Amino acid sequence: MTTGPDEEIIAAPGTALGYAAIGIVRLSGAGAVELADRVFRPRRDDLGLARAPDRMMTLGNVCSARGELLDEVLAVVMRGPHSYTRQDVVEIHCHGGLLAVDRILERVLQEGARLAEPGEFTRRAWQNGRLDLAQAEAVIDLIRARSGAGMNQASKQLDGSLSTLVMALRQQLRQLMAGVEAGIDFPEDVPEQQENALKSDLQALVDRVEELLRTARAGRIYREGLAVVLLGKPNVGKSTLLNRLLGTERALVTDIPGTTRDLIEEMVSIRGIPIRLVDTAGIRDMAGIVEALGIERAKKALEQADLVLAVFDAATVFGKADRMVLELLADRQSLVLLNKIDAGERLLGRERLDQEAAGRPVLEISARLGWGLQELEQEMVKLVGAGTVAAAPAMITRARHQAALLKVQDALGNALETINSGGTLDCVAVDLWDAWSSLGEILGEDVSGEIIDAIFQEFCIGK
Ligand code: GDP
Repeated sequence: MTTGPDEEIIAAPGTALGYAAIGIVRLSGAGAVELADRVFRPRRDDLGLARAPDRMMTLGNVCSARGELLDEVLAVVMRGPHSYTRQDVVEIHCHGGLLAVDRILERVLQEGARLAEPGEFTRRAWQNGRLDLAQAEAVIDLIRARSGAGMNQASKQLDGSLSTLVMALRQQLRQLMAGVEAGIDFPEDVPEQQENALKSDLQALVDRVEELLRTARAGRIYREGLAVVLLGKPNVGKSTLLNRLLGTERALVTDIPGTTRDLIEEMVSIRGIPIRLVDTAGIRDMAGIVEALGIERAKKALEQADLVLAVFDAATVFGKADRMVLELLADRQSLVLLNKIDAGERLLGRERLDQEAAGRPVLEISARLGWGLQELEQEMVKLVGAGTVAAAPAMITRARHQAALLKVQDALGNALETINSGGTLDCVAVDLWDAWSSLGEILGEDVSGEIIDAIFQEFCIGK
């Protein structure tokens, strides 16, 4: 008998490589318990893994084929279907560090397991119906979350918040479809009253879909971070401000690979919202001419900005470069900051800046002394709309879900149009079926193999 890839026993480290107190090797697949039992020598003879109760730790040693001690471990068995993958799962908790996990992994591979692909445990959980696709995606988002709000959102989605909502929308749609199909079978019996009810039910469904779509911007920000670009002349205090903002929750700062040398990019969590701070080189004014290179760089940075912080210096006069900064803001979401308000001599006053900023909100700050930063953070968070959407029952955090919902919105819109223009119920039914299957895409129905592969490739090995 040959085994398909889904029946093979897979194994992988479940913990990150590095110096740590414990490390975990995880196995999944039919026969995983027997395999682990073969490499495991229990401390007490009566406690072999094959007879170990589910979810109870058993103390013992993992030994080589020749019986040499490899490491002392605690092993735990979770027989399917009551496990993460719904298959038999074994976790071997060994010592951490660079070697113990490797040794144990090698030993189980020798015994017939194969190294898991990235995300393969979660893929099996999905294939075996333990999670739907939106929940599987939430697992990655949970692991990768860079802020409290992002993690809360992922936890809710893993718990089924989005899936439940999508299923509720489908149920509502199902009822509509039943009504339409009855109308197709007995077209002469559809009274006007029923048609009006169909219209208003459809509209109610469109409203719910649109409500969910409105969470997409905040959802993306929770997942990827709000891209905030700092713009201004050199020396206005951009780096000082960047460091100030980073200093508030320094622990979460990470280097983002792939940033260009002209742009400094740092990740920070401000009031639970992940924020990508991008510092630009500065718009320079040389002998009355604004340097073109600086403008080009700034424009590039602005392409990815959700919010621009335009920084002005109270200790210098308002110049051409400052005006260029305001021009670059155009219709972007931005906050105008008057920095260095602690400086003894104020060459640029609030009134002048208000005038130049033409209605944009201006905040007075001192990056050096930390004045006005609370207000600044508050404004930044407000722009995300965090308070209002965090309370929403579910949120759209991924482009894939957003694209599917836009298709639902389109299909339902078409259905409404058909009814309004006196089209046939057959045409309405086709649109409703489209909406039905687009909703299913969020849960993972009829999604192409490439998309599935791409989703699971985002995972690390062992998850
Ligand atoms: P950047 O070129 O825009 O990044 O400006 P920097 O952050 O390097 O700051 C330029 C100079 O301004 C430094 O000497 C800072 O110490 C000073 N500076 C920055 N913020 C303030 C502030 O709020 N008040 C005062 N008095 N000086 C500041």
